[in-house]
Amino acid sequence: MKTMTCKQLGGPCDLPLTGSTSNDVIKAQDEHLKETVAAGDTDHATALREMKGRWKRPVSGLKWYRQVQRDFAALPHDAGVA
Ligand SMILES: [Zn+2]
Repeated sequence: MKTMTCKQLGGPCDLPLTGSTSNDVIKAQDEHLKETVAAGDTDHATALREMKGRWKRPVSGLKWYRQVQRDFAALPHDAGVA
């Protein structure tokens, strides 16, 4: 398992998101953004809009996605977890 923060994924806070693949952390971030915005958080609204926009704009979305994949691959594994 590896951990990326909300901030590393384009969001405004330092919440750690854990997953075994970059897709897992992206999915966790997507959920986190939806949850915080649904709870009335405005700081995450921009990040959520950008996240949604990525799926509508494949070129810039793919660039972001590839960067996350690279960042994720470069991360060390969480201590004590395979
Ligand atoms: Zn956040």
